Amino acid sequence: MKKYDYLIVGAGLYGAVFAHEATKAGKTCLVIEKRDHIAGNIYTYECEGINVHLYGAHIFHTNNKVVWDYVNQFAVFNRYTNSPIANYNGEIYNLPFNMNTFNRMWGVITPQQAAEKIEQQRKEAGITEPKNLEEQAISLVGTDIYEKLIKGYTAKQWGRECKDLPAFIIKRLPVRFTYDNNYFNALYQGIPVGGYTKMIENMLDDIEVQLNTDYLAEKDKYDAMADKVIYTGPVDAYFGYKIGTLQYRSVRFETELLDMENYQGNAVVNYTDYETPYTRIIEHKHFEFGTQPKTVISREYSAEWQQGDEPYYPVNNDQNNSLYAQYKVLADKEEKVIFGGRLGEYKYYDMDKVIEVALDAASKEFG
Ligand code: FAD
Ligand code: UDP
Repeated sequence: MKKYDYLIVGAGLYGAVFAHEATKAGKTCLVIEKRDHIAGNIYTYECEGINVHLYGAHIFHTNNKVVWDYVNQFAVFNRYTNSPIANYNGEIYNLPFNMNTFNRMWGVITPQQAAEKIEQQRKEAGITEPKNLEEQAISLVGTDIYEKLIKGYTAKQWGRECKDLPAFIIKRLPVRFTYDNNYFNALYQGIPVGGYTKMIENMLDDIEVQLNTDYLAEKDKYDAMADKVIYTGPVDAYFGYKIGTLQYRSVRFETELLDMENYQGNAVVNYTDYETPYTRIIEHKHFEFGTQPKTVISREYSAEWQQGDEPYYPVNNDQNNSLYAQYKVLADKEEKVIFGGRLGEYKYYDMDKVIEVALDAASKEFG
């Protein structure tokens, strides 16, 4: 049986970066992937000339120049800047929360007027130290924005009321007192021309990849094939869920090809009311300024996760974090195995962070 230096479980972003670095350092690698395609959750496929993001819209953004230079070796990035629109029962607002949002909501013109309005609403709500997402949201942007743009969307996305969610989730979103609709506070942003799958293909160039291969189904056989294992699947699955199951939020996508050029005029439209059953509609062509005669849209429905479903978002509440901490103790004892990525480390990582941690792991191994 052929011996490899590294067996890499998962051909997602973490696995691909690690495999690329290992190969560059002269190591032999075998990548195995249980799906029938590479690229993990950033996988894109082409339909009528449009790159469709199968597992949800992915916008690359980072402040880390090392990471930006790194990905630019494998793809050319376009100038796409994410500027989602919120639709609240037919009222349209700009996101993230900025002067355009405040003006549409209250008619205020200046940053001072907007700040005063928010402060007045925060005081009326009696919040000093925000203890949960609801209080955090009201203290950041006031009650009106909370009620129209946050409460329904968040409850749909997480399947829990804002009062029962941690404050940090909302802190991901910028609040700006400028007329700037750029969703991300990132120096670098864009979409890889030709799709993410092509970018991962370039990372995995000349590296052996076996698709449709579940590591956990034949763990002993694969362990025997390599000196070390990089595992990017769910950490609790690795240990057979022996001390419990970590929770995820899952997403269901309803994708449609439409015989029209332009459905909604923007890549991302969030539906922030309670009643609309989906959280948002993605129109994929707008990520690449597409001019095709047809268009592809995906409605996103947030869903409770059950064993066997695709795990998407780790639910980093106290209960799950403490269970993860126990798994981490077990993981650290597996001398031959490095656990990495969104599932392996049970962390809400964006793509740039995943690259950062994969490069760190590689430099510890080969640096
Ligand atoms: P994954 O992509 O999940 O890769 C893990 C791979 O391991 C998978 O292909 C899986 O099939 C495979 N695997 C698992 N178990 C086994 C096994 N037993 N045997 C073999 N293979 C196995 N980030 C951004 O920066 N910008 C965004 O706009 C953005 N949008 C997102 C939208 C959604 C809906 C979600 C869920 C995430 C988003 N992210 C975004 C985060 C981004 O998807 C992740 O950071 C990135 O995909 C994580 O890469 P990974 O390699 O850790 O995991
Ligand atoms: N959010 C919201 N209304 C919106 C967009 C976001 O209330 O229109 C909240 C919601 O709680 C979400 C969080 O802000 O979970 C973070 O949003 P982001 O777009 O970063 O979520 P992602 O889908 O990337 O995790």
